Amino acid sequence: MENTQNKTLDFPNCPKCGSGRRLAGETLKVEVEKGKMPKQSNAFLFQHQSIIAKDMHWLSAPVIVSFFDACVECGTVYCIHAETKLAVQGGKNLPKSGNLFSPS
Ligand SMILES: [Zn+2]
Repeated sequence: MENTQNKTLDFPNCPKCGSGRRLAGETLKVEVEKGKMPKQSNAFLFQHQSIIAKDMHWLSAPVIVSFFDACVECGTVYCIHAETKLAVQGGKNLPKSGNLFSPS
């Protein structure tokens, strides 16, 4: 029986030009400064989930949840954060849509 292994990857800078300026990140920063969003918020353009399972009859399988944003300097869209979790069908680890940046 495999234990739940949570892996987290963070890529704070653009892989092409090295800039740390991100479109969703900077838009969020403005909203935080206005007091419209909590300081601990994270922002991204889109999120993708991949279940690593042979078919749909899995009971537990690793799920990779990745978050993407665009570089303000050069326009490159890149993965800013990724998490690997073990999802259990009917269990609480099954990712829901929304902001999953919170440490677990
Ligand atoms: Zn860039």
